[in-house]
Amino acid sequence: MKKTAFLNLQQAKTIAAQIPTPFHIYDEAGIRRNARALKAAFAWNKGFREYFAVKATPNPYILKLLNEEGCGCDCSSYTELLLAEAVGCVGKDIMFSSNVTPEKDMRKAWELGAYINLDDATHVEFLEKITDGKVPETVCLRYNPGGSFSLGNTIMDMPRDAKYGMTEDQMAGAINRLMSLGTKHFGIHAFLASNTTTNEYYPELASQLFRLAVRLRNATGCHIAFINLSGGVGVDYRPEQPSADIAIIGEGVRQRYEEILKPAGMDDISIFTELGRFMLAPYGHLVTTVLHQKHIYREYVGVDACAADLMRPAMYGAYHHITVLGKENAILDHVYDVTGGLCENNDKFAIERSLPAIDIGDILVIHDTGAHGHSMGYNYNGKLRSAEVLLHEDGSFKLIRRAETPADYFATFDCTEFKFGD
Ligand SMILES: *Cc1c(COP(=O)(O)O)cnc(C)c1O
Repeated sequence: MKKTAFLNLQQAKTIAAQIPTPFHIYDEAGIRRNARALKAAFAWNKGFREYFAVKATPNPYILKLLNEEGCGCDCSSYTELLLAEAVGCVGKDIMFSSNVTPEKDMRKAWELGAYINLDDATHVEFLEKITDGKVPETVCLRYNPGGSFSLGNTIMDMPRDAKYGMTEDQMAGAINRLMSLGTKHFGIHAFLASNTTTNEYYPELASQLFRLAVRLRNATGCHIAFINLSGGVGVDYRPEQPSADIAIIGEGVRQRYEEILKPAGMDDISIFTELGRFMLAPYGHLVTTVLHQKHIYREYVGVDACAADLMRPAMYGAYHHITVLGKENAILDHVYDVTGGLCENNDKFAIERSLPAIDIGDILVIHDTGAHGHSMGYNYNGKLRSAEVLLHEDGSFKLIRRAETPADYFATFDCTEFKFGD
């Protein structure tokens, strides 16, 4: 589908006059519309809830907004738990899906009364120790089926190579042990493929987890309260890619639920999701200004953002669509590498991309940066993380995180031996 920016040149200029580029901007209207579509797609399931994967966009204003749409928080670290707590999430508003979990993190999750998702069977003992035997009434267990995960003839991922989760036998053992300690209800979780735009991923995952739930109930007699389908529903980063249709996905999961859980008398199970990318990626843009152009063996456009603002192209060779604001309908008769200023040749937002003629001072929108964008930012080369802006439904905007300053960069040199300028 043709990709259009949710921001036009005039709006970008108005914002940039107050908040210099580069900045990430999020589209409140789009985020709310999408969250409602997800809720509608799973409205057939009474207990349905989305726990937004905080790591995708760890900004309290975004979490709050999603909260208002009924979403909880999926956290994986102590700091993410603090963020969730700060926006008023407590107890079952929080899913704690961590791995290689420090004691401090686990204790915090327990104190908050979060749903705790154990990554390994040995974590039962770990949890027992931390809680002094007072394990939660409901505990979630993360499953790893091993082998490969396929949809039709396509291998999507290799669970056997993944560090996450536990085997079915280990799950049964963990359930028995937890029941003996007083746990009454169980959740099952698995994350088997990432950024899938096919509508078949969730239904196939659901069918595997539903069958597993029946087997575990039969083997242990436990009560399974929820199935957590986790993240993995993707977005169409490329204009020619199909996009996931959440209504079709929700219906696919419903059919598997009817087929597998209902006949087993397990139709009190709630469906949970932990989507990050699907909730936010399309509703974020990285807005950046062209600083320089150079003409050597290729044509280069140098912008004021760099991989420290958006790591995905450098890290995964990921495609992010680019719109030149004010030139939305111009013909794409130039070929450019669009680069940031890191001393790393992989700091390229686009390689040999067809774009309209670009001038210094043009403002570019890099699309689909709302998830795993700012959050993966870093400070290499002394680059400072950019600001984050929320574009409200009425067109007004709010700075929801200021850009870092050199003082932020130096703040962790907690000493008097050196003096930093600026
Ligand atoms: C990263 C992650 C998610 C979110 O993944 P998306 O691909 O952004 O939907 C959900 N759950 C867990 C445990 C994760 O690690």
